[in-house]
Amino acid sequence: MASRPAERYLAAMNEPLPIRPPRERKPDWIRVKAPTSHGFNETRQLMRRLNLATVCEEAACPNIGECWTKKHATVMILGDTCTRACAFCNVKTGMPRAVDPLEPQHVADAAAELGLTHIVVTSVDRDDLKDGGASQFVKVIEALRKTTPSTTIEILTPDFRNKSASAVEAIVAARPDVYNHNLETVPRLYPTIRPGARYYASLRLLEQVKTLDPSIFTKSGIMVGLGEERMEVHQVMDDMRSAGIDFLTMGQYLQPTPKHAKVAEFVTPQAFAAYGAIARAKGFLLVAATPLTRSSYHAGDDFERMRAAREAQLAKERS
Ligand code: SF4
Repeated sequence: MASRPAERYLAAMNEPLPIRPPRERKPDWIRVKAPTSHGFNETRQLMRRLNLATVCEEAACPNIGECWTKKHATVMILGDTCTRACAFCNVKTGMPRAVDPLEPQHVADAAAELGLTHIVVTSVDRDDLKDGGASQFVKVIEALRKTTPSTTIEILTPDFRNKSASAVEAIVAARPDVYNHNLETVPRLYPTIRPGARYYASLRLLEQVKTLDPSIFTKSGIMVGLGEERMEVHQVMDDMRSAGIDFLTMGQYLQPTPKHAKVAEFVTPQAFAAYGAIARAKGFLLVAATPLTRSSYHAGDDFERMRAAREAQLAKERS
């Protein structure tokens, strides 16, 4: 049995990668139960009362039944309308409303009422704002630190493309526990899947965060099943490691509506396991790679695992 990272890497590389052809009906491993629980309804009511949007609803996430039952929701700040129109994303596009000054405290109140030990906060792209919405992220972090000081904070930001470097610097200075920004797909597919973004700009953003404050965990994710090649995915992993990214997430792309990009293939759980083995061998502190993995899926548990992995790594370096 392969035990060293290099051996595990080579073993995984030689594994056949079973890819299922696309079909109308989702495979069994994608189907999830309809959300009906009491906890689900309570989470929904709280978000409505505090006038907060969630990416769980706006992106039509398949895990919403499970997450909201456990009262885990990913808040989407800066409104529910995005200035970009990515081919994979269900969030509506248009001219967003003015920034809500009450939103930071509402996010903190939601974290307190839900009793969250870890919160994930994301946002729409706000190319219309001078700082891309960075100052609102800072205000949310500050409100959370004040209201629920023991809650760990993970932010999932836009790319702040064409904004000043000070936008990201301000967020890093506010010291979130995890800084996440998703690369989403391989560079070849950016013009069709993520036309408003640039692969290397996104990569540089994550590298900038790590350079500014190495103690902040960095995290990024991609969707598979959009037509990417296996070696392209391996290259993205290498690029992420070069940028010092700690945590990789990989999940199956699902077409939210017929207007969005088509699913090119349903990647099997075995193929996800092979990708996961390769990513671990490449040195990520943590890897989550399953068909239903999403950036914020099980984020609290994964944060604890990532913290433990870093402590173990530091102890090893000291010994
Ligand atoms: S995986 Fe993330 S986006 Fe999906 S329901 Fe759970 S918390 Fe929301």
